[in-house]
This record gives sequence, C-alpha cells and structure tokens, in this order.
Amino acid sequence: MADGADGGPGAAGAAGGCVPVQPQERAMCSTTSGCMISKPSQSAGCMMQDYLNDSAGASLILKWMVMTQWCDERFNFQATFLQCLAKHVPNIYSAEMDPLLEKQEEMVQAAILYPLECYLFGEDPDIFLEKLQQSGTSQLCGKVFKGGETTYSCRDCAVDPTCVLCMDCFQNSIHRNHRYKMHSSTGGGFCDCGDTEAWKAGPLCTKHEPGASGSAKENSECQLNEEIMEHSRRVFPSVIKYIVDMLIWEEEKELPPELTIREKVDSYYCVLFNDEHHSYDHVIFSLQRALGCELGEAQLHTTAIDKEGRRAVKAGHYASCQEAKEEIKRHSENISQRPLHAEVLHADVMAHQKFALRLGSWLNKLMSYSSDFRQIFCQICLKEEAGSEKPCFISKLMLWDAKLHKGARKVLHELIFSSFFMEMEYKKLFAVEFVKYYKALQKEYISDDHDRVLSVTALSVQMFTVPTLARHLIEEQNVITTITETLLEVLPEYLDKNDKFNFQGYSQDKLNRVYAVIYDLRYVLVSKPTLWTDRLRERFLEGFVSFLRILTCMQGMEEIKRQIGQHIEVDPDWEAAIAIQMQLKNILLMFQEWCACDEELLLKAYSECHKAVMRCSTNGRSREKTVFHLCGHTLESRPYRVSADPVSIHLPLSRTLAGLHVRLSKTGTISRLHEFVSPEEFQVELLVEYPLRCLVLVAQVAAEMWRRNGLSLISQVFYYQDVKCREEMYDKDIIMLQIGASLMDPNQFLLLILQRYELADAFKKMKPTKDQDLIKQCNVLIEEMLQILIYVVGERYVPGVSNVTKEDVIMREIIHLLCIEPMAHSAITKSLPENENNETGLESVIDKVATFKKPGVSGHGVYELKDECLKEFNMFFYHYTKTQHSKAEHTQKKRRKQENRDEALPPPPPPGFSPAFSNVVRILNCDVMMHILRTILQRAVELETHLWTEAMIQMVLHLLSLGLLEEKQQLQKSPEEEVTFDFYHKATRMGSSALNAVNVLMLLEKLKRVPQLEAQKDTVNWILQMFDTVKRLREKSSLTTVAATSGSEATKSDESTQDKEKAERKRKAEAARLHRQKIMAQMSALQRNFIETHKLLYENTLEAPGKEDAIMEEESMSSAIDYSKIALGPKRGPSVAEKEVLTCILCQEEQEVKLESAAMVLSACVQKSTALTQNRSRILELSGDTLDPLFMHPDLPCGTHTGSCGHVMHAACWQKYFEAMQLNFRQRLHVEQIFDLENGEYLCPLCKSLCNTVIPIVPLQAQKINSEDAEAVAQILSLARWLEIIIVRISGYSVKNAKGEKQNLPAFANKGMGNSALEFHSILSFGVQSSAKYSSSIKEMLILFATTIYRVGLKVAPNEADYRIPMMTWSTCAFTIQCIENLLETEGKPLFGSLQNRQHSGLKALVQFAAAQRTTSPQVLIQKHLIRLLGVLLPNLKGEDTPSLLEVDMFHILVGVVLSFPSLYWEDAVDLQPSSISSAYNHLYLFHLTTLAHITQIVVSSATESPTARSPDNSEEARSAQSFCREVCQYTGGCFSQDIPGWLVWDCVKKGIMPYLRCAALFFHYLLGVSPPEELLQGQKGSEKLKFVSEEGQFKALCSYLSLPTNLFLLFQEYWDTVNPLLQRWCADPVVLSCLKGKSIAVRYPRKRNSLIELPEDYSCLLNQASQFRCPRSSDDEQKHPVLCLFCGAMLCSQNTCCQELVNGEELGACTSHALQCGAGVCMFLKIRECKVVLIEGKTRGCLYPAPYLDEYGETDPGLKRGNPLHLCRERYRKLHLLWQQHCIIEEIARSQETNQIFFGFNWQLL
Ligand SMILES: [Zn+2]
Ligand SMILES: [Zn+2]
Ligand SMILES: [Zn+2]
Ligand SMILES: [Zn+2]
Ligand SMILES: [Zn+2]
Ligand SMILES: [Zn+2]
Ligand SMILES: [Zn+2]
Repeated sequence: MADGADGGPGAAGAAGGCVPVQPQERAMCSTTSGCMISKPSQSAGCMMQDYLNDSAGASLILKWMVMTQWCDERFNFQATFLQCLAKHVPNIYSAEMDPLLEKQEEMVQAAILYPLECYLFGEDPDIFLEKLQQSGTSQLCGKVFKGGETTYSCRDCAVDPTCVLCMDCFQNSIHRNHRYKMHSSTGGGFCDCGDTEAWKAGPLCTKHEPGASGSAKENSECQLNEEIMEHSRRVFPSVIKYIVDMLIWEEEKELPPELTIREKVDSYYCVLFNDEHHSYDHVIFSLQRALGCELGEAQLHTTAIDKEGRRAVKAGHYASCQEAKEEIKRHSENISQRPLHAEVLHADVMAHQKFALRLGSWLNKLMSYSSDFRQIFCQICLKEEAGSEKPCFISKLMLWDAKLHKGARKVLHELIFSSFFMEMEYKKLFAVEFVKYYKALQKEYISDDHDRVLSVTALSVQMFTVPTLARHLIEEQNVITTITETLLEVLPEYLDKNDKFNFQGYSQDKLNRVYAVIYDLRYVLVSKPTLWTDRLRERFLEGFVSFLRILTCMQGMEEIKRQIGQHIEVDPDWEAAIAIQMQLKNILLMFQEWCACDEELLLKAYSECHKAVMRCSTNGRSREKTVFHLCGHTLESRPYRVSADPVSIHLPLSRTLAGLHVRLSKTGTISRLHEFVSPEEFQVELLVEYPLRCLVLVAQVAAEMWRRNGLSLISQVFYYQDVKCREEMYDKDIIMLQIGASLMDPNQFLLLILQRYELADAFKKMKPTKDQDLIKQCNVLIEEMLQILIYVVGERYVPGVSNVTKEDVIMREIIHLLCIEPMAHSAITKSLPENENNETGLESVIDKVATFKKPGVSGHGVYELKDECLKEFNMFFYHYTKTQHSKAEHTQKKRRKQENRDEALPPPPPPGFSPAFSNVVRILNCDVMMHILRTILQRAVELETHLWTEAMIQMVLHLLSLGLLEEKQQLQKSPEEEVTFDFYHKATRMGSSALNAVNVLMLLEKLKRVPQLEAQKDTVNWILQMFDTVKRLREKSSLTTVAATSGSEATKSDESTQDKEKAERKRKAEAARLHRQKIMAQMSALQRNFIETHKLLYENTLEAPGKEDAIMEEESMSSAIDYSKIALGPKRGPSVAEKEVLTCILCQEEQEVKLESAAMVLSACVQKSTALTQNRSRILELSGDTLDPLFMHPDLPCGTHTGSCGHVMHAACWQKYFEAMQLNFRQRLHVEQIFDLENGEYLCPLCKSLCNTVIPIVPLQAQKINSEDAEAVAQILSLARWLEIIIVRISGYSVKNAKGEKQNLPAFANKGMGNSALEFHSILSFGVQSSAKYSSSIKEMLILFATTIYRVGLKVAPNEADYRIPMMTWSTCAFTIQCIENLLETEGKPLFGSLQNRQHSGLKALVQFAAAQRTTSPQVLIQKHLIRLLGVLLPNLKGEDTPSLLEVDMFHILVGVVLSFPSLYWEDAVDLQPSSISSAYNHLYLFHLTTLAHITQIVVSSATESPTARSPDNSEEARSAQSFCREVCQYTGGCFSQDIPGWLVWDCVKKGIMPYLRCAALFFHYLLGVSPPEELLQGQKGSEKLKFVSEEGQFKALCSYLSLPTNLFLLFQEYWDTVNPLLQRWCADPVVLSCLKGKSIAVRYPRKRNSLIELPEDYSCLLNQASQFRCPRSSDDEQKHPVLCLFCGAMLCSQNTCCQELVNGEELGACTSHALQCGAGVCMFLKIRECKVVLIEGKTRGCLYPAPYLDEYGETDPGLKRGNPLHLCRERYRKLHLLWQQHCIIEEIARSQETNQIFFGFNWQLL
C-alpha cells in the first residue's frame, strides 16, 4: 500500500498545499476557537464549542488532526474509528424517544463526521468538497425519484418506456420537442440522462453534456490525488464494515465486543416495526391500548413508523419493555391478523444502528463528488474475503434487505444508486452479484410484506433493461433460465395433481409479488439482440426451454366442465389465470420475436415447442376412434364433446407453436421444418384439436349452453377475445385452425369442425325436433361455426399468413374501429393491442386513414375515417364484438343509403395467402363446404323459418363472396387452365341426391324472393354479378381468339346492367326522399302540438326574454320622445310596468303578480363572494357577529351575491315542497345529502340548481309624473332647499325621539341652514301617497328572504329582528348589480337586453324586494341607518363613525340611501310614502350627491397617475376639471398637485366613473321600470374605432338616462354653494391626506376586473413549478400534493397533515382553509400532479372538473394517465372563469354531486 511518503510529485504537491493549513488548524483547535467551522449556524457553533470543551471530545479531535499528518501504516484506523464510535454514538443517540434532531445532528458532525472528513481529505472538508464539486460532475444524472414525482419518457428516442428523465434533464433535452409522455413515478427509479444505452438519440441534456459545467477534460484532470485515494481505501472498509455489521446485527442485548466499552446499563427500548397488513387506525388503536398513551402520541408513533419503518415506542428497563412488547402483540392480534412486530432492543444497539444509517447517507453524499470515491467504494463492497465462501459486503446487504426496516432500505438503495449505478463497469459487476442471488432475493421478497419499491429486487429494472447488460447477463449468468427457474420454484404451491397451475383460493398480494419475477423476464427480453453469438444462442434456447416448462404447467390448466342441471354454487377464481395470461402476452411475443432473429434458433425452438405440445396432447387417446361420414367423405377421430368433457381456455404452448409457425412461414424457413420435426411426428389434427375445442367453447357459451357455469366463464371468454389478451389467445387459435386448414384435407378439416361444433347431425338430415330451445341453440352454433370458417378463410392480416406488414395490420384495425363511429384518440388507443413498449403504432398510420376533428368548448376531439378507406370495411372483421359488428353494419348501411347507393357490403378482396397457407382456400370449394352452403340456402328458400336465421344467410353470402373473389383474383393472375380453384364450377353444379338437386346459383335467385331477406337483396345481387364476372373471366380466357371483342362486349353489357341498376336506385332514392319528407312534416306537426299543450312550462323558461324585448320595442315605437328615456328628476319617463302573469312550476297554475294576492317566489341562492375583491390579502372575518355591514369598503373584499335560476313557484307550493323534502330526509337519515336542509338548501324542483332561499316577487308600482306639477315643483325645489327640508325633518325626528328613547343622532349645527319657514312637515308638501299594502303572504316572504341574506351574508344565526337586516338587503342588492355589470363588461355585452333570462328575472325581483323590504322593519331603524349613510353625503351630518371618502363604496351608498329614503315620510298615524314627483326629486338629488362624491374619489385616488403622451386638448371638460383640481388642491393644503393637466383628470374621471354609472342605470331601471335609451341596448362593436365611438355614445346615453350633464364637473359648478363645504370636509380628512401624500394606497377607478390567474401554455411548466414546491410547514421529503389556487395563484400543500389548520375547533386542510379567506368558502383549485380542477364550497362539498388542458388530440387527461403533452385551451379556461364570475360554482358542485354520487365518500374538509 502506498502512502503519502512515497507518493509521486502530485502527492507531494498536494501535501505541500496542506502544510500551511495544518498548524493553523491545530492552533485553532487548541484555543478551541469555533471559527474553522464554517457551515453550522451560530447556535450550532456554540454547540460544537460546548462539545469541544468536553476534554475527551477535544483530545480526540486533536488525535484525528495529528493523524492526518502522520497517517502511516502503523496507525490502526479501524481500531481508532470504532473506539471513537463506541464512545460517542450511545451518547449522541441516547434520547431515542424524544430526540432533538438538530442537536443530534450537530453532535454527530462535531464528534465524528467532521474529524473523519478532515482525516479523509487532509484539509477543511467544506473547502475541499467545494473544490471537488466545481471540478465537474458525472455525466449521468442519476437523480432518484420520489413517489409521485413527474418523469418524462420520449416515445421517439427512448429504447424502452422504462427509460425516463427527471424534470430538469427533460426541460434541457432535445426530447421536449419530441413526442413525449409524462408520468408519475412510483418512487425508486432514477433519471437515465447520460445513459447512452437508454436513448436512441439525445442521451444527454445540456446540463449533463460534457463542457456544460466543467468540461470533460477538466473532469479527468481533477481526479483525486493519491493521498486522498489512499485514505479512502483505508477509511471506506471500516465504515462499510461497520454499516454492514450494524445493519445485520441480530443480538438484541449485546454489541460486538469492540464497540462495548462501557458498563452495560439497563436501558432498553420497545421498538415497533412497520408492516403492510395493519391499517393506520388499527396501529393507533393497539398502541393506545397497549401503552395507555394519548391519541396524539399514538398518532405520532404511527406516522413515524409508517415513514421510517420502525420506532421506539417505550423506553425503560428490560422487563418493562418486554411487557410492552407483549401488550402490543396481544392488542394487535385477532383472528384474521397476525400481531404487530415489536422487539426489545438495547439502547446502545439502537444507537449504533441509527448511526450506521447516518454513515450510510454520509457515504451517499460523498459518492456524488467523485468517480474515484465511487470506484473505491464499489471495489470494497465487491471484495470477497479470501478463501471464504461468504458473500461480499454488498451481497450481504442485499440478502439482508428483506429483513431491514423501511428507513434502512431507503438509505441502502440510495447508496447503491449513487455508487454502483453511476459507474457502468461496477453496475455490471453489481448485476452479476444480483443475478447470483436472484432466486434467494425474489423468494425473500415474495414472503416479505413491504411494497415492491422498498425491495432490492425492484432494482432489476435498472439493470435488465440495459441492452448490453442484459446480453452479458444472459451469456454469462444465464439470467433467462435463472428467472424462469425462480418462477418454477415459487409457483409450485399453485400446482394441482396433474402438475397444472390452479389458482383457486390464491392470495392476490402474493401473486402480485410473483408478477415481479415475470416483469423481470420482460425486462430482459425487451431489447432484441442485433448480434448473435453461439453462446447467446445456446443460453437463450436453454432459457426458452426452461420457459416452456412454465407454459407446460399452464397448458390446459383450470379445466372446466359444463354444468348440467344445477347452477354451480361458487364462481371459481378466474382472475389470476387471466392476469398471468395478460402478463405473459408480451413475453410470449418477445420470445417468438427473439426466436425469429435466427433461422437455426427458430427451427430448434419450434421443435422444442412442438415436443412440449405433443407431450401435453396425450389425454383422450384411450378412447376408441369413431367414424363420421358426410358427402362421401369420412373422418376417423377419437370422440370428444366440449359440452360433456373437460375443456380449458389456457393453451399457451399451442399458441406459441402457432406463433412460431407463422414466423417460419414469414421467413421462409418452413421449407426446412422436416429436418427438425418429421412428418409422422407432426400430427396436425392433434395440434388443431385443443384450440378448436376452445373456440367451440366460446360458441357454446354464446349459445347459452354454459349458463349454469356462472359469470366466471363469461368473464374468461370476454378476456379471451379482449384486446389485452387476444394476440396470444384468440388470434393464435384462429391461426392454428388456418394451419390445420392448410395442412389437412379440406373435407376432413371441415368434418372435424362440424364434429367438434357438435353439428354433424344438423347437416346430415333434418331432425324434426320440436324443442324450440334446442333449435335456437343449434342455430347459434351454426352461426358461430360459419363465422369461424369466414375467419379461417378470410382473416389474413398477420405477417406470415399473408404478405402484410405490421403497419397494414394496425391500419386495418383502426379502419374497422372508425367504421363503427368516429372515435377519440384515447379510445382508439385503448382498443389496439400494446406492444412490449406500450406502443400501439397508432400515430404512424392514423393520418393515412383518418382525419382529426377538433373539439368544442366541451367534449373531445375525434378521428373520422377517410372516405377512401371505407372500401376496406369487412362486416365480419374478427375483432368485432357482437355489438360492434351490428353497430358497424348499421352505420355503413346508413351511410350507403345516404349516398344513394345499394346496401350491399361484400367483403373487400383479401390479400393473398403466403405459400405456406395457400391451401387454406381449398376449404371454400370442397364438397363439405358446398354441402353446408347449399343446405342453409335451401332451408331459407323452403321457408323453414325455424331452421335458419338472417345472420346465417349473411354469413353464407359472405363465404360465397369470398369464394368468388378468390377465383376472380386467381383468374386475373394466371391463365385459366392453371387455376384449379373451381368455386364457380362447384357452385353451379347440381347436387347428386334429391336433397341437393338445386345448385347454389339457382338458390340465390330464389332467395331474392324471400320476403324476410329483403335487406340482403343488394348483397345477393352483388354475388350474382360476381358469378357473372367469374363466368366471363373463365369464358374470356377459354376463347382467347375472340378475347378482345367479347371482352369489350362483356364490359359493355356490364355497364348497361350497371346503368339500369343506377336508374333503379335513383327511382328508389327519390321515393325514399318523398317518404322522408312526409314523415318530417308529421313530426313537426307533432312537435308543435306538444309545445302548445305544454306551453305553460315553456313560457317562463324560454319566452320571457322575447316578451321583454317585445315590450321594449313597443315602448320605443309608441313614444319616440326623448324624455321617456330619462330615469331621474322631473323629466322622468313613465314606468313600463305590465301586468305580470306567472306560472308556478310546481302546480302549473297561472297567477297574476299583485300586491294583495298570495306571494309568488323565485328560487334563489345567496352566497358570500369575493369575485370583485381588489385586495386578496385582506383578512376576512369568518363570523359576522360584530360586523357592521352598512358601509362597504371600496376594495369590495367580500359581498353577498344573490342569484336565481329564474324559476317561479307559489310561496305556498314551495313551502309544501320544502317540508316534504325535510320529512323525506328525516326518514332516511343514513342517506348522505348533497344539500344542507338545516340551512334551507334545496334543489330547484325544475332545473335542480342548488338554492337556499326564495325571493318574493313584488310587482313594480307604475308611476307617472304629471308634467305640470313637475314644472311647478321645479321652481321651488332646488338642491339647497331640498337639503334644508331634509335636515329639518331629521332634526325634528331627533327632537321627537329624544323625548322618549334616547337617540344617538349626530349633533349637527344649524348655522346657515336654519330656515324658520321650514318645519317638520315641509317634506310632505311636495307630494305624498299612502304606502303600498302588501298581502300577509308577501310580507312573510319578505321577512324570510331578508333573514336568509342576513344569515348567509354574515354567517350568523338567523334573527328576524336584527338591526342589520335592512343593511344586508341593500348590500346584496348593490353587490349583485356590481357583479352583473362586471360580467356584462367582460363579456362585451350591452348593458340592457342581453342578460340571461334567469339573471334578468332574478335582478328584477331582487331590486323590487329591496325596495319593499323597508316596510317590514321599524321605520325608526331605517331612519337611523339612513342618517348614517347621509353622513357621507351631506355637509353637516357627519357622525363619529362616518367613514372617510376613500373608505366607502359609493354605489353601495347610493342604493342604501335611495332605498331607505322613503322612511323620512313616516308619520305616526299614517303610513306615507313620497309621491312620484317627490321621489323623482329625491332620487335625482341623492344620485347627484353620490356622483359628486364619487368624482371626488376618482380625482383624489388618481392623483398619482402619470400623464401619458397625448396631445393635451383644451376642451370645456378639461378646463372644468382644471378648476376643480385647483379647489381640491386648496382644500388639501397643497397635498393634491394642481399640475396635473385638466384633460388627464377628465380622462380619468370619464373612465373611472363608467362602472358606477352603468350600475346606477341598472339599479334605477329595475327600480323604476323606465326604458333605457337605444344606445345602451347595443353591444360594443368589434372594430377598434367603432368601439371607441360606441364607448363615447354609451357615456352620453348613460348621462342622459341618469340626468347628468356630460361635462360632469358642471355638477360642482351648479351646486357649488352646497358642495363647497362638503368638498372641504372630504378633502381635509386625514385618510385622504395620507393617501395624497403617498403614505397609503387607495383603490383606483375603474377597479380592475378580476380574472383567473394566467396559466402557462405548456402543462409541463406547471409540473415544473410543482416539483419546486416546498411545503411551507414541513421540511421532510415526503411526497406533497401541490395545488394551485386559480383565484390568487397561491400554491398550497393539500391533503397533508402538515398544512392542516385549526379553524373554529375543526381541522381543515390547506385548500379548505385557504378557500375560506380567498373565496369566502368557495374556491377553484388546480391539482397539479393530477391535472384536475377542484371546486370546493365550505367544508363539506366539492367536485372535480376537467382541467382546461388538452392534448393534441383534443382530450383532457385527468390523473395524467395517458401522459401525452398537454396545452392550455383558452376557451375552456374562459368557461371556468365565467363559472366563477357568474357565481355558478356552487351550482356546478351540486350538479356534479348529484350525478356522480361517488364523491360522497371524499373528505373535502381535509383537502
Ligand atoms: Zn436527470
Ligand atoms: Zn441531464
Ligand atoms: Zn426524443
Ligand atoms: Zn303553485
Ligand atoms: Zn330552477
Ligand atoms: Zn387563493
Ligand atoms: Zn404541508
């Protein structure tokens, strides 16, 4: 061993480099200064110091330091190392039960790892590792995946689908532009970036490419120096030995002597181990019982056990731990379960085991730094002790793997990944070791109970799929044989007495483990070798023969016998056998492919397989042969009946042979077959026998002969033909019959078929059986047999059977799928067989046969068959199921009809058989076939209805067509005299006996006249024509001399018949068209009648908007005068209030809506909403107990939205309905409800929308102003005057009330306002009228609805008398209008006339309700609220709680004051309300005042706006704005800069005020019923210019409708005297000043319109984001479920206990608790890893919704199951946006829950 002394110059240099460092370090150590430790934090530094102060620790480190310089051979590293560990480890890990993890880590670093590293590197580890890191990393990425992490595979370049990239590598690779797949890792795999064998192209990403960071040259330069290598060789063995020793340590109480240095103390732990049998809850329960601990502690233990694999649950003396262990066993054991596994371990043992793992991860980290480390490590791990049989270190660990606990396994596997798997050479050596112990390892795994990812056997995929490695393992380790032998050793427990498998009563879990071995076989075979050596051939054949032994155990396994009489009692287990078949499918195919690589090999394999089949085909030989005659042909065979004797569908040997046979044919090697299998041995009858039995079984099942054998048989038959199995089951059986048909005498072959189908008698003579069931059964059997004959002759799309390519085969499959109907990409994929790489080959051919049709906003994209491919359609395609067959036939016939063509669907000409199969066609023209065909046709013609079916005739016609096509093809190819295929001749020949005296051609002519076969007429005609064609072909060539003329004549006559046919078709088509027309007319008449009779139903839902339009139209026509379109002031137009007659959806009775009649109500849903919020960071109050909702903040943080589905009911009917529902649910308590009856929820009886209340429908009170009166009033009632009157009225009330109850009215000064002429009653003098009188039923509903708004909006208990009820009424009215305005704007729709009917009627009812609600509250209360509201607007009414101008939403104020104002007219004795004229003025002035306030808000809040480059205009508006600004500037003491140009201010105001004006227009329209001007009914035009004009037009129209001057600043000028003091007050407010000074931010106008967050175009960007997501609460590396909030973009950690939050004493998941804040309980999330949108509401409800991402085939991919690249679909995302803004999320959830009851089980609360 070389050391530093005799090292070369390099070593000396390095040593030299170390020299200056050493004394310094030593000095520092002696002064115990902590500054040499760079990484640990401050506290860690202190900790270390503490530790170093401990003399023992310090001296030890000193020793280490000294050693780094001396390091000579005399020094015994191992002894010192162990000594050190023996001393420190037990101390560090002493507190096992309740460890301070950080502290432990610091101590380990200081006492052991740091010195160890110092010794190893010879310098400060941090500095050294830093250097090493920079010097270059491996070219392999090797990132180990955690469960759930997204992996990428390239379908173009990956060698097989197990080759994957990590997100980082993928994003930096060329594959991101290829066809890739995304998948969720199950954990345990690793990134293959850099592995040249894994990729056909682009093996390296840019990050791992040499030269990307630290070039390759540098990499080689920067190898470790000799000294460090030397140290490593010295350190690693001790470290590794320690790890291995401790991990496999079995003594509970003792440690190895070298680690035992101190007195043994009686300190033990009771350790509980993880298993996969016991549920979480069971473990918690057992622990609670056994240890008597709290639930929380038990949970903590259980979580840790699940994660780490083991945990100490009790500490103490040996006896007490032993007791605990027994207790745990006792409490966890029951009849069905074994007890939990617990052990008592000495504290020191536990400590050392723990530290061994820590050392393992230390090594793991070290491995990533240098290839040299890895190589040294691997060498040591592989080193076998000289002369010892014992396995090397790494094998020891592997063999111990199944005994290790979860945490230890993880560390071990990671270490293998980071060392062996990063060095190709060592990976190979590791693989050799792995295979050496393969059997043992797999057996351990199978008896273990941990998941596969946790087993060392799961590493097989990493080695077996590497092509060179696989080849090496086959050649050197005989791995195929090893695997198959392992299988043979683990499966015997399933063998029955005949040595066949039998999986009855098997354990699913165990069998799943066996599958792992089968997978390994698949991995080894996945890449076919390109180069064959003798050794490889030999080993492969050996493996194949060994594999045949497994197949032998399967051949004929699980035999069944037809049950007669009684139904079977128990359905046998069939899943296991079928599942194994599925697993084996691709392996079988791969074996066949491998065999076909090499001629010699193929023949040898064939002969081996043939021998195996023959060995299995012995049974039944004992029976005597019987003879069967028909048509002069005889068949000698041993009797066997499928319906009576045992039969099995598992015949893998026969099928493998069929597969090999086809390959022999394909390669032409079949000519040499006789060299390997002699003809005598071949015995084709025997080969055909078993597959034929299987097909007969299928036929008999179809004929319901096996009814009594139960469902299991049906399932097996289904899978036998299903796409997952059929390639190695059904398809191969057909091939085997084709082999039979090609090698046997055709007549004998058919006789055999007849006999096995048990139909010999049916074609012999007519048996006059009367049993209808038997006849029916026989008919089905005949159909099934004919179908098989069609397949045997017609199905040639198998490479080898004919000369087709794999592509042709797939194309044909796709064509036939699309002949049924257009299909989605995924649906086609699912219907095609996958190869060993999970590819179907779909993409390469789909565009040749189909065109893609894009999807709309919902649904998915589909492929449609190209027209030119339709001719390929074969009605009897052998992969069609019965339903597919009839669907396809129907579709194709319909299509031909539409194209005015005949309905004949003859078979397409099949490709010619390859030579080996060419004899198959002989069965078409053999005697027995003719007999069969004739017999069936005869029966049809003779109308023996019970003996034939239409399907039978169809098949006979199909067979005839095939025969004729064959003859035609042959005639076209070769001269007539050479064509021996004489179908025409046979078919036209008379039969010899009386029974078949008529020939087929004549029978066909007769068939045309059979009425039941009308539908087959076209086909019969086609066949007759074919007869003609063949006849002419025969004649043509026999008369070669006149060939030319007769030929042309023939075609001519052909043409003329075609013409005739055409004319006939045309006539028929015309007749059909007329007939259709007539039917259509009848239909539409019917429809009209239906609508007529159900008009009531339709009226409300469909025709209301039309009606509305009609009224508007009428209105605009009758009165074209301008004033009619003004809503406010003396020029107010008339209300358009029509008599409203509505129909109750419950009782269907009509009723007019009147004040005095019984109430009608509208179903409605009230919800809190944050849809308009301007500030998501604002914390929402969860309960409104102390909330005062009078003033809405301009942020609109959370409002109350009222929506309706627009369906009307009588209040009484609704109440009855609701009560009935309550009763109903109370009786069925166990039924989980989607709606919460306690909170008034119900589903709308008509449309099933979720509702939680009803809105009473209050009629609009029509008002008309007498213009003369108005003129008169206008003279006196100025704003100033109006104000005075109000003030007097208010102060009068306050005086009045002061006498009685103490009123807290704001004291207001009377100075300047006092007018003695005015007194308390002045307000009444401008006109009053008596209040509306509502019927008691309407009143009741008013109260009910108002209470709901209050309860839901504030989340409080209902209280009819609460003072906040009116406030909430106004608030929801204002907020709902704002939401609707917002929606209309975002959708670009006109303000009026474009609302959905439901929105329109909901809004109308809501506004009218809000106006009427006042009458149900005490007027004093309303007045009180009014005065507070007016405080914002009136100069001298400011109260203590009056908010600043910037803290209140003006539209809410407007709605509040307008609706509460009539309360000022209240008199003790009489109930009065303002007359039309009075309210016109009230509305006008109130509106003007709020508008003034809003303008001021806009100006103040936009003060910081910086001017955009625009030519200043000097309009009148700009000048007014300028002068207004001067005033503001003055009142704010200069805080408001007057430099802002006037035009800019005007611009801001005009833009900012629009939403407010639009809301006001909506509000007044629905309140007063005055028609709006035309301009507001028009939508905005698309073009930019027009839009601008229209915006201007809209502004003008709004101003005119709302009685505003278009120069809004004129308002200030007009009311200057009144407004001046008000403006002064507004501006001087501290909040306003602070905002102007830039100290706080105010809302800008117009407010931003909320939309869902921007999502990236490419879904993998999101996955990328998710991969970087770290849970904010925990740092463990557990898999997280990142979820994206689509409202605010927050990424949350969902479904995890770490991020649960305690809200009101309930544990809520991250999403649910986020939703409370972000969406007031309603929220929309994107589950990133699953690619699903989740809608949730509250704590109990939610649903899934497809994410707005589509693959290139227009399909969504929930769960990323298919893994195609996904891209954002904007339309779908917009749909989600509207769902939110229309407040329909709750509705969507309710609807989805009703349809998918499956989500009931989900605990949404913890999402
Ligand atoms: Zn990678
Ligand atoms: Zn990479
Ligand atoms: Zn690629
Ligand atoms: Zn009713
Ligand atoms: Zn409804
Ligand atoms: Zn959010
Ligand atoms: Zn978390």
